[in-house]
Amino acid sequence: MKKLFVLALAVALTALLLAQNKAGESGLKKSPVGYRDTPVLPGQKWKVHDIDRPRPRQVTPGATPGAPPSDAIVLFGGKDLSQWENVRKGETSPAAWTIGNGYFEVKGGTGDLVTKQKFGDVQLHIEWSAPTKITAESQLRGNSGVLLMQRYEVQVLDCWNNLTYADGQAASIYGQYPPLKNACRPPGEWNVYDIVFEAPKFEGSKVVKQANATVFHNGVLMHNRKEWIGRMAHRVVGTYAPHGAEEPLALQDHGDPVRFRNIWIRRLQDYDQP
Ligand code: MG
Repeated sequence: MKKLFVLALAVALTALLLAQNKAGESGLKKSPVGYRDTPVLPGQKWKVHDIDRPRPRQVTPGATPGAPPSDAIVLFGGKDLSQWENVRKGETSPAAWTIGNGYFEVKGGTGDLVTKQKFGDVQLHIEWSAPTKITAESQLRGNSGVLLMQRYEVQVLDCWNNLTYADGQAASIYGQYPPLKNACRPPGEWNVYDIVFEAPKFEGSKVVKQANATVFHNGVLMHNRKEWIGRMAHRVVGTYAPHGAEEPLALQDHGDPVRFRNIWIRRLQDYDQP
């Protein structure tokens, strides 16, 4: 009797296992697409593997590394400066930097190149190339800058065999933190920055969250969520002053004919956004 019972149990178990592994109508092995009987994740409204949690929207990545994904705002795709204007001493004028074959170049004296759109928290991709004609040293060699919110500078500088202060070389958080490494390519070659930037937050005149960035230079990590002490400043410690939740992105006119290409940006979203 006991033997029969064990046999029956074994048969039942085998049948169950077979049923679980049985292919569905599609011919594919079945697997749950979510659960309702799992615990709630601490601090979230969702359960573990929640069947009702919104699935992320599909984005088509760029065909080649560095190419803009389908949901990026292309700020420069190689042809025109329609997304930009120049700002010099507070005066705005049509974008006057020089367009080349797939790139544009700083036209010294015309002012910073500033986006017409404003941004807060972003992912930014930008490529730059230092001038091949070397006429100066240190900070006067291939100097420009990526000025997030027109204030928080990730330095652009020729740092190929060019001695300068550590917190002013390429990919530094200018005047505050040197990059973790020097990953510069020689003048004339293209450098790539990938930056994740979080805007500061203010309550009245008080900073309640400092600006921070994660920066990759040619794929090498330079800053990991590093906080700005204050806005970019030269020879003094930069401080914060309240500004909008979104502000334009600017490229610095430091007088040197630095080139830029392939610039795109994505506003950062929180999880579970439709
Ligand atoms: Mg600069």
